Amino acid sequence: MIAVGLDIGSVAAKGVLLNGQERYTALIPTGWSPRDAGETLVTSLMAQARLSDSEVRVVATGYGRVSYQGANKTVTQISCHARGVAALLPGIDTIVDIGGQDSKVTLINGRGKVVDFIMNDKCAAGTGRFLQVTAAALGIDVDELTAVEDPLQEAGISSMCTVFAESEIIGLLAAGISKGGIIAGLHRSVGKRVAAMAKRLGIGQQVAFTGGVALNHGIRRTLAEELGCPVHVPELCQFTGALGAALLAADMQ
Ligand code: ADP
Repeated sequence: MIAVGLDIGSVAAKGVLLNGQERYTALIPTGWSPRDAGETLVTSLMAQARLSDSEVRVVATGYGRVSYQGANKTVTQISCHARGVAALLPGIDTIVDIGGQDSKVTLINGRGKVVDFIMNDKCAAGTGRFLQVTAAALGIDVDELTAVEDPLQEAGISSMCTVFAESEIIGLLAAGISKGGIIAGLHRSVGKRVAAMAKRLGIGQQVAFTGGVALNHGIRRTLAEELGCPVHVPELCQFTGALGAALLAADMQ
């Protein structure tokens, strides 16, 4: 039996296919139709694995999971990230997941089961959306933020709100503050906000950082500094939820 996990997120749709020891991954922008995104991912994964008519078990997660009709089961992102992290980084007891439109902190036990969680899905501050909007105000893409930031020139960003931060950036640029310094300030703002949420829940001994924003080294640094402990980033950090979903699909067999 082939196991597929789909994480159809607000920004990116991620898929993982497990066939015995073989693992395949696919990532596409979710676009306007989460259903189409799910179908495209399955087609791409099957083609990579050179499979056509094989029986496939699919578990879907992410905000778009309800729109995708081809899943055998849907599971929350929190449970999928917990399962994925337990497989990738055994010994982790706290997961910080920052995606496109929300951020979450989850406490898990040694078997990857969720013990408690807290999330922010009400406000773009502290999410990937905040970084996308503010990067655009600086005329760069989110995947360039790490390379351009200059932590030694970190600017203070006082606006928590994404819209106000955008205007604050324009003012800072006009005042001659460097882009690198502004980006370091933006990274600090996200790290601070998410760490404050984590501390409200209470963190454990070993912290993992997942989701697309974990690709950003500036956020990794500021999150670790604000939490006061190292953060472990798994390989395929943006695929952790999809991998967890695929492992849950494999468990169903
Ligand atoms: P969702 O599941 O909500 O679609 P993801 O976990 O896929 O979210 O994360 C999407 C976010 O990850 C984007 O908003 C962006 O901020 C960030 N991101 C994506 N790719 C990169 C990259 N290459 N470098 C830095 N940040 C990235």
